[in-house]
Amino acid sequence: MTVFSLGGTIASTGGAASGVRPQLGAAELIEAVPQLHEVAELETVAFRQIPSGDLTLRDVVELAAEITKRFAAGASGVVITQGTDTIEETSFALDLLVPGPQPVVVTGAMRNPTLAGPDGPANLLAAAQVAAAPEATGLGTLVVANDEIHAARFVRKTHTSSTAAFRSITPGPLGWVVEGRVRIAFRLPALETDLPSAIGAHEIPPIALLTSALDDDARLVAEVEKLGYAGLVLEAFGGGHVPAHVVPALEDLASRVPVVLASRTGGGEVLRSTYGFPGSERDLLARGLIAAGFLDGLKARILLSLSLAAGADLLDVRTAFRQVGAFAFPAGVP
Ligand code: ASP
Repeated sequence: MTVFSLGGTIASTGGAASGVRPQLGAAELIEAVPQLHEVAELETVAFRQIPSGDLTLRDVVELAAEITKRFAAGASGVVITQGTDTIEETSFALDLLVPGPQPVVVTGAMRNPTLAGPDGPANLLAAAQVAAAPEATGLGTLVVANDEIHAARFVRKTHTSSTAAFRSITPGPLGWVVEGRVRIAFRLPALETDLPSAIGAHEIPPIALLTSALDDDARLVAEVEKLGYAGLVLEAFGGGHVPAHVVPALEDLASRVPVVLASRTGGGEVLRSTYGFPGSERDLLARGLIAAGFLDGLKARILLSLSLAAGADLLDVRTAFRQVGAFAFPAGVP
């Protein structure tokens, strides 16, 4: 089993005076957890050593290629350690980029190794136990933290410091780890799209992410194209609503670039057929916006970026969102 380290709190040390920074690589991380050697034979790769906010989608594409190589050579699972700040995005990108069925398990820590009760070693051990578990095969990329197993498609970081920061608000965690046993309570349908795996060296286009807010006139919508963005993900109110006066700018933009409608609530899925007022989900979808389904804005942005990087046209993007964000919702269903 390979452990790739990317930096983050789990790898951060230093003095109280100057603050901690990512300084430990995978080899040092596994040294602190002797029980890991009972789980699998380990290879370590210090892939990056940075705060996770400094990672790029290109880094993740390169990591996915390394993982795919190992799977092709017979590896049965991999673990990635990284900063938790962007884990909900990197794990979902890996989910799209690494063909299964072997488990890819991403973990991190909320308390760095200089604090009392750091959670990194326990998270790393649980992540390796999941990556080695036959039950985890076919579940795509997983995030393991605080002894819970989350699907990359749903997990969100919901707290700045709690070790229970990770939540899958809509379905709950897929399972848990107890006394080293991996329990999977339910399985998700396989993530069905082969679009993004074709990215290679293609440019990854910038995608804007905006959130609707009370009494904001959304003037940034009109700037999206001028600023060079190739598309927009809008985290709208509730089930997918915006103020009526914002509709013309969104419709205009959606006639030229993909505009994806997500919800700012962080749970549930975008509605399709309930409300009829101007700026409602029915109105916006009829004007060409693409429903994000159950993907939140951050994950919808990853899917749109990788789809466009793989050469998707507008129809392909619609298909990708139906496949990934709605469990392959049949075309033609509203
Ligand atoms: N606070 C972050 C972490 O939990 C830092 C980062 O994301 O790199 O690892």
